[in-house]
Amino acid sequence: MSKIDSEYYHHPAILYDRLNDEKNSVLCRLCSHYCEIKDGNIGICLLRKNIGGELFTMTWGRTEGLAIDPIEKKPFYHYKPGTKVLSFGTPGCNFRCMNCQNWQLSQAVKYYSDISLATKVFLPESIAEYAAIQKVDGISYTYSEPTIFLEYARDTILECRKNKKTESLFHVFVSNGYFTKEAVELIDRENLLSAINIDLKFMDNQKYKKICGGTLEPVLDSIKRIYDLRDKIHLEIINLVIPGENDTDEDIEKLSDFIVSVSPDIPLHFSRFYPHYKLSNKPQTDLNTLIKAKEIAHNKGIKYIYIGNTTIPCAEDTHCPKCNELLIARSSFGIIKNNLRIANDKPICPKCKTEIGIII
Ligand code: SF4
Repeated sequence: MSKIDSEYYHHPAILYDRLNDEKNSVLCRLCSHYCEIKDGNIGICLLRKNIGGELFTMTWGRTEGLAIDPIEKKPFYHYKPGTKVLSFGTPGCNFRCMNCQNWQLSQAVKYYSDISLATKVFLPESIAEYAAIQKVDGISYTYSEPTIFLEYARDTILECRKNKKTESLFHVFVSNGYFTKEAVELIDRENLLSAINIDLKFMDNQKYKKICGGTLEPVLDSIKRIYDLRDKIHLEIINLVIPGENDTDEDIEKLSDFIVSVSPDIPLHFSRFYPHYKLSNKPQTDLNTLIKAKEIAHNKGIKYIYIGNTTIPCAEDTHCPKCNELLIARSSFGIIKNNLRIANDKPICPKCKTEIGIII
């Protein structure tokens, strides 16, 4: 192991308790698996290890997939439209999604005996420097589940705040929503994030278990918790529509009913499924299913609904929920036209003057 490996490979974890039992166990409170980990063992994510009764993260400072993206690609359509973000993730995940399109990264720990072989060292200060050089507007923690690299993300955010060139960057998570109440409290207390896109995969607990290795309830709780913090953290929801798994009218109705019960103002992105990983045998989502899903969600009262991962014309456009005026036209993650007007620092519809829930 190189010096850099020995210095950073095992980095002290946050949000855990020592259980003071004979196995020197700890309880990890970062995600809703709430793993009890005995001395020498690792958690379900395979990334957090109990060494002598203390918990360590094994991917701190290990970056994969550094890229500059439009924020629309994450997707965020109602947060800082037209801005650029630096995106990155680390290996590993707390889910085992059979359809994962980043499975080489999210499941890397299973395929590499030494995670240092799969990743580059990129310390938080280097990420901040790189963000300044690239003149991005924010940083997106993505590709794999950012909750399980919260220490690394947090240190990167704190590092950015130290530097005049990066102090005003915004920070966003693209998450499976499996984080705990304690993680949300920390994020809120330290003002770490400006926006989160939560992937609400199914409204069926059995599907969550079978396809992702998680459960539904914690994700619903996270959505409610983040919405409660809406003055500080902007929320959008994405749902990947998988043929035969969550694509019936009833599935979409349930999903829409839940979102409306939290708020019809939360932007909802339906995304087209393409065969990946262990669901390579499934067909891609029929475009008519996605169009129907949008119709159902609209009829349930959701105000802003998008269809992504397709070439359906205008499926990514924002319209005024009151008069249907075209507000933002998008294509391939770019903004073609922005018709929003500003009144009292708030975006409004140019036609009927309704205030539009977009943070500019
Ligand atoms: S982050 Fe989640 S999966 Fe990983 S050890 Fe902690 S509770 Fe377990």
